[in-house]
Amino acid sequence: MNTPAESLVAVVTTDLSAITRGRSVVESKLQKISATGVGWLQANLSLTPFNSIVSPNPWGSSGDLRLLPDLNARFRTTRTGSATAFDMICGNLVELDGSPWLGCTRIMLKDALAELKAATGLSVTAAFEHEFHIADADFAPSHSMSFAALRRADPFAANLMAALEEAGVAPEVVIAEFGNEQFEVTHEPADALTAADRAVAIREITREVARVAGWRASFTPKAAPDAVGNGVHIHFSFIDEAGKPAAYDAERPGGLSEQAGAFCAGVLRHLPAITAITAASVPSYYRLKPHSWSSSYTWLADRDREASLRICPTATIGGRNPARQYNIEYRAADATGNPYLSLAAIVRAGLEGLKARLPSPLLVTGDPTEMSEAERARLGLVRLPETLPAAVDAFTTDSTVTGWFAPLFVETFVGLKRHESERLAGLDPVAVCDLYRTLY
Ligand code: GLU
Ligand code: MG
Repeated sequence: MNTPAESLVAVVTTDLSAITRGRSVVESKLQKISATGVGWLQANLSLTPFNSIVSPNPWGSSGDLRLLPDLNARFRTTRTGSATAFDMICGNLVELDGSPWLGCTRIMLKDALAELKAATGLSVTAAFEHEFHIADADFAPSHSMSFAALRRADPFAANLMAALEEAGVAPEVVIAEFGNEQFEVTHEPADALTAADRAVAIREITREVARVAGWRASFTPKAAPDAVGNGVHIHFSFIDEAGKPAAYDAERPGGLSEQAGAFCAGVLRHLPAITAITAASVPSYYRLKPHSWSSSYTWLADRDREASLRICPTATIGGRNPARQYNIEYRAADATGNPYLSLAAIVRAGLEGLKARLPSPLLVTGDPTEMSEAERARLGLVRLPETLPAAVDAFTTDSTVTGWFAPLFVETFVGLKRHESERLAGLDPVAVCDLYRTLY
């Protein structure tokens, strides 16, 4: 096949099922469309991951929007091995007059970050750590985390890192993870909006590099009910107005600054409700179980991987300063959650904690499943919702959380998640996992 004379660039938006959708133009038209974008429509927000649309939905058949490319959020690489360049620009959804559309999750994240900054002076630095499975490569069994486990997939990992690097994602580490066909890739921390854009790019570039190898990379939360879960761990820290790290205070428990403590308290208070956003699918709840290193209670811990908020380690080798490395990891997320909306919900919940001057949560160690009800209550450990419908109920009953969004947006989100739950109600977990392995 001849190489086409002009390559395509896609303007994309990521929806409430975390599917990245968009429209492509030939590259020479990019300048022309950069001010007015490409067409989009409101009802797309009610698209399901099953190639159907929730019906009825609040949008109907009429209405138009523009999807405006953010030229600072362009990810281009010729190194995926595909026939043409991978070229994607994350966009914002606006009304025809350019005003923000109430259903744009990227704008929601920007707004949440701006409000946090206005109220507290804090900016958020973030990173998304992605786990995924390659389920159809027929790899010979290998050892978890081993050198050989990564090499048996060669040149997948090297191609992936080269493509991510060229695309500007700033990849950090690629590993063969604990599960037999499981991998993980991380990127350098960046301002929160950039981090969410990178999350989108990482998922799509990983899928493309795997596809070129003849495989399918799946970011489903559970490739099988008994498989090791695929988490998306969202790391966050803060920078104050003087550009100094603000999450760390050596004098306080766990090194958590007073502001970061209040932020974490807000996240834990609203965690049962925001789980519907960050763990947004039916199989998400097969992952959020005790003893899975995934998170299953409202729980802040110092370096414990069972917690939902984990204070991450800092390396003081050679006298290094921990303050700039110090960060907290939100573990109750997976790739069925929209990265912009997930981070926006975390930031909004944290801001509630800061505004209410909540005290820092207790740092808990131990196994909540071994504790008495009274002990868990004393420590503030509440079990996270155990199914998607339960999470949606927790979302709808937390009026603080629903109050962060436009009512039409809440209606769309809840309609979509209820539709998803009802559609899968007759399937057993094996069938659900089989389906989601192909969808994500
Ligand atoms: N696979 C685990 C999860 O579902 C995480 C393991 C880890 O800590 O890397 O989140
Ligand atoms: Mg991992």
